Amino acid sequence: MKSVPNAHQAVLATAKQMLRKGLVEGTSGNISARLPDGNIVCTPSSVDYEEMSMGDLVVVDLDGAVLEKAQGRSPTSEILLHLACYRAFDDIGSVIHAHPVWATMFACAHQPVPACVDELSMYTGGEVRCAEYAMSGSPGVGENAVKALEGKGAALLANHGMVAVGPEPAKVLHIVALVERTAQIAWGARALGGPVPLPQKANEDFAGVYQLMRSL
Ligand SMILES: [Zn+2]
Repeated sequence: MKSVPNAHQAVLATAKQMLRKGLVEGTSGNISARLPDGNIVCTPSSVDYEEMSMGDLVVVDLDGAVLEKAQGRSPTSEILLHLACYRAFDDIGSVIHAHPVWATMFACAHQPVPACVDELSMYTGGEVRCAEYAMSGSPGVGENAVKALEGKGAALLANHGMVAVGPEPAKVLHIVALVERTAQIAWGARALGGPVPLPQKANEDFAGVYQLMRSL
C-alpha cells in the first residue's frame, strides 16, 4: 500500500500551489493523501486555499469516518470520490479533484482528452477517458471514476471536472496541469484541422513507461 511521508505538509503545500497555478478558484477542488496507517488526510470543505492552514486538514478512515477534525472542519464534499480511488488502487498515495476550464469543456462534451502530445501518455497512460455521469457528492461519482481510471493517472468526470491519482500530491498536481494543458492544445489543434494522431507505437511505449513509473 502506497503512502505519503509528511502527508499533511504535502497536501497543504500542493493545495496552495494548485491555487497559484490557476487550476482552482475559491474553495472548489480538493486534495488528499494516504497516511502510513492507511487513513486519509484531505482538504476541508468550504475553506479558502489562501487561508488554509495545517489545522484545517481533516483525517478520515477508508469508510469516511472522521478521525481528526481541528477547528470543526468537515472533510471535502467529494470525499467519497477520493475514498473510492484509494480502495480501488493500492498503489496510489494521493488524489486530486478539480474543475479546470479546458478539461471540464471535454467533460461536458463527454469526450476524452486525446493523447495528442506524447507527454500525456507518459504521465497518464494515454488518452484521458470520460467517466459516466453521476450527481456531485453521490457514491456514483467515485464508482464511475474508478472504472475510467483503470490503468490511467487521470479521468474526466462527466459534466463536472476531473480527477487524478498518483504517488504523492506534487506529482498528481503535475498530472492535473498536464491534462488541462493538453485539453487546451487539443481544442486549438481541432481549430487547425484536427490533431494528427501519434504513431500507435509511440503512444504504447509511453503508456508502458507510465505503468512502470505510476507509483514511483
Ligand atoms: Zn467537484
